Amino acid sequence: MTKVFCIANQKGGVGKTTTAINLAAALAALKKRVLLIDLDPQGNATMGSGIDKNAVNANLYQVLIGEATIAQARQYSEAGRYDVLPANRELSGAEIDLIQMEEREQQLRKAILSVRDEYDFILIDCPPTLSLLTLNGLVSADGVLIPMQCEYFALEGLSDLVNTVKRVRQNINPHLNFIGLLRVMFDTRVTLQQQVSAQIETHFGDKVFQAIVPRNVRLAEAPSHGLPGVVYDKNSRGAKAYLEFADELIKRMKREALRSTARTANTANP
Ligand code: ATP
Ligand code: MG
Repeated sequence: MTKVFCIANQKGGVGKTTTAINLAAALAALKKRVLLIDLDPQGNATMGSGIDKNAVNANLYQVLIGEATIAQARQYSEAGRYDVLPANRELSGAEIDLIQMEEREQQLRKAILSVRDEYDFILIDCPPTLSLLTLNGLVSADGVLIPMQCEYFALEGLSDLVNTVKRVRQNINPHLNFIGLLRVMFDTRVTLQQQVSAQIETHFGDKVFQAIVPRNVRLAEAPSHGLPGVVYDKNSRGAKAYLEFADELIKRMKREALRSTARTANTANP
């Protein structure tokens, strides 16, 4: 069954796009069919997948305002072997257009319905805001993946996001789950990072992924070549960590599917 995940954190520059691109490529390497939706007008996920954001005929903006379908606007990333729904600066106008529309927070969800079955995973790279665009992402998703750096203020920002996820679940999208936290740009030599990492584990328990993405220059270099890090240098420590993360995520999904089948069986035969 298709899983739609938002990669979100309202803090800027924490590794959302790097996680989205590398998770997409790692899942594709594991033979999963993946669509990466670039929900950020910066268009970094588009460019980092090797697609020129300014050379595409249609992008997410046209999809959100109903002028194109995802099938018309998506592009294939040769580099990463997944599909991309591209974005560029035009998307920043979408906020204003959406406000005038009925069901303005539902536009992305409705657009995804027509292609959902073609994919195993649909990943949404969110902008660093809790805006109407991000809300469209959260309303479309089954789960939220949060990449975070183990820094002093990280936990504080996190509670806002966790509360937003709760509110969206209660009010608009009951399917939305908090899937887990991924520690990124991790530097084992920094004692403070180890302390915050331990704090996160105490706080969030098994919601914290065991895979940890280190600070790794190969991951930072890869986008300038239009390649996901896991393709640019698959033997780098960063690439290996994202491949481990993809594997862990798939296993976690399988476990949850088994649990929910067991729950359904128990309800059917009390
Ligand atoms: P924004 O909030 O602007 O969308 P973001 O959360 O998507 O940012 P990224 O663009 O993924 O963050 O990362 C910010 C910067 O950090 C980029 O220059 C990226 O190449 C670099 N970076 C991300 N992850 C790593 C890593 N594990 N090691 C080294 N550099 C990294
Ligand atoms: Mg980004």
